Amino acid sequence: MGIINKFESSTFKRSFQASLIKYTIVTLGSHSALQILKGAKDEGFKTAVVCTPDRKTLYSSYNNFIDDILLIDKWSDFPKLESNLIKRNSIIIPHGSFVAYLGMEANKSMKVPYFGNKLVLDWEENRKMQRSWMEESRIKVPHRFKKGDKTDRPVIVKSYGAAGGKGYFVARNQKELDEKLKTFSEEKFIVQEYVIGVPVYFHFFYSPLTHKVEIMSVDKRYETNVDSLGRIPAKYQKGYDIEPSFEVVANIPMAVRESMMAPALEMAERVIETSQRLMPKKGLFGPFCLETIITSTEEIYIIEISARIVAGTNCFINGSPYTYLLYDEPMSTGRRIAREIKNALKQNKLREVLD
Ligand code: AMP
Ligand code: AMP
Repeated sequence: MGIINKFESSTFKRSFQASLIKYTIVTLGSHSALQILKGAKDEGFKTAVVCTPDRKTLYSSYNNFIDDILLIDKWSDFPKLESNLIKRNSIIIPHGSFVAYLGMEANKSMKVPYFGNKLVLDWEENRKMQRSWMEESRIKVPHRFKKGDKTDRPVIVKSYGAAGGKGYFVARNQKELDEKLKTFSEEKFIVQEYVIGVPVYFHFFYSPLTHKVEIMSVDKRYETNVDSLGRIPAKYQKGYDIEPSFEVVANIPMAVRESMMAPALEMAERVIETSQRLMPKKGLFGPFCLETIITSTEEIYIIEISARIVAGTNCFINGSPYTYLLYDEPMSTGRRIAREIKNALKQNKLREVLD
């Protein structure tokens, strides 16, 4: 990796801030790209976005912080750009669209230096592996029904991979589940207890340089149509064949009861500690999210660990109430990633944050 050798040279040490523009922070044009690139520019890096022509208008309108737009006809053409990106001394910042658009294998085999630990990808995507990660972290998870189990309560059926809730469905009982599975086309899915409560998504950042978990922000999702069903009284829903669906449309910022932040942070710390045992060498680092449902008895169930920046952090491009407590300047998750890269460069530890 030429990029690391460059970092180790003495030129870098002489004029650190000026040298940052030798590195280009790059991401795919989707999900949280605007936040990531704004943060990178605020920290002093060069920036570029890779996108399909339909998104050029959006990213061109932010030429105040996006230096280059690299167009590809379709997402699967991304590998063709790799040698160009390596020449530019690029660092890739992954987000929720990477696996969705490029596929798991293209993510793993990417040769451009990548912020994060790629070993985490399997633990995130494979729901069974993720579940053992959660159980070893001693966090509460909704009951999972295995193949052949009879369900005794309402369930939610979820396919693998980050799909923003797409294709999920609920079933009130075994009969309904059997019926719905007949027409369900996904091969890999899990059947999970449907927890009655409110969804709360806690965003964190773990720094391998300071060994500290920072609370970044909290959001809830706005999902269609489940978030609008309550607007129509039950008597008007009767007679319509309405199925709840969970497709995310937007994210809404939250400030959570302070007493609930304590267990959430402790859980986040355990998730990191466990990852260091399960995923050799570095474990999970950088941004991650604990996606929870909190019940009326204040129990916090973790429904998923997102091992990367989540789009809910887009509510906080100008910082959140929690980052304001740690930083005296607007600190988004995107900017925090760039800050980590900058701190790693300063300490001669770039290798520790890249894969
Ligand atoms: P997009 O390019 O916005 O269509 O999103 C690409 C991928 O990222 C899809 O798998 C989406 O489901 C996921 N995604 C985008 N925005 C969000 C969000 N706000 N919350 C969760 N997932 C998202
Ligand atoms: P996820 O893809 O796991 O983040 O889930 C997307 C959405 O599905 C969540 O925001 C919830 O609205 C819903 N959901 C997922 N799992 C459960 C569960 N076990 N109980 C209740 N709702 C759930």
